[in-house]
Amino acid sequence: MCDSARAGLAPWHLRPGSGAAYYNCPVPISRRSLLAAAALPLFAQSRLKIVVTGGHPGDPECGCGGTIARYAALGHDVTLLYLNRGEGYCGAASLDRCAAIRTAEAENACRILKAHAAFADQVDGRAIVDAPHYDAFARLLTAEKPDIVFTHWPIDRHRDHRAISMLALDAWWKGGKSFAFYYYEVADDTTMFEPKEYVDISTVERARHEACYAHASQQPDKWYPMQVEITSRHGAASGFAQAEGFLRYPESKRALLP
Ligand SMILES: [Zn+2]
Repeated sequence: MCDSARAGLAPWHLRPGSGAAYYNCPVPISRRSLLAAAALPLFAQSRLKIVVTGGHPGDPECGCGGTIARYAALGHDVTLLYLNRGEGYCGAASLDRCAAIRTAEAENACRILKAHAAFADQVDGRAIVDAPHYDAFARLLTAEKPDIVFTHWPIDRHRDHRAISMLALDAWWKGGKSFAFYYYEVADDTTMFEPKEYVDISTVERARHEACYAHASQQPDKWYPMQVEITSRHGAASGFAQAEGFLRYPESKRALLP
């Protein structure tokens, strides 16, 4: 049984333009639920703003590339908000060229996924989590007016991933929990992550692959296959060929998952 059915919740979102009840699992539609849905706020029925935050260029694409492509295909507005421009590593090129190289890679990946790139302008490998940076990140995130935010699961091998997870969570709390808040995972960096909701990405595998391989300086052959193993496993658990897995913060509202 799916989460919403178990909780006895009505399907409170509509797939844009279809008028059909949707969630990430089937929910019976009654006349009453359709009438209730008709009275939903505009937010639930119109173009959503999705923000996927990531420690570095390539992280949102790796963890959520298929979901991003599916949201964009449904007509939603998706921004990939990177904590930094990847100044710390870009293969054989000199470090002083990394920010430019990786910014270009991120913008190319966003073009492939039909999303936008934004940068928090911290420094790769030197993430700062303190009062001024909490405030600065919250201002940046709030300015996007998100309906749904995805961020790294906080128990992660990389400091920058842990940092942006904390910055995003703080912005959500301080902002009155106004948007839905979900966690995602990236290859072998994320640890102790047990997703509960899945998005079928079987039809957008090509876009996910291209977006990840747009980050050529990051040697995607080393991490992309690991992510495919993860999404294959989630697919087996959810009945799809490939699925990305997510965990909603327990106090967060439910989101429109594609
Ligand atoms: Zn990263």
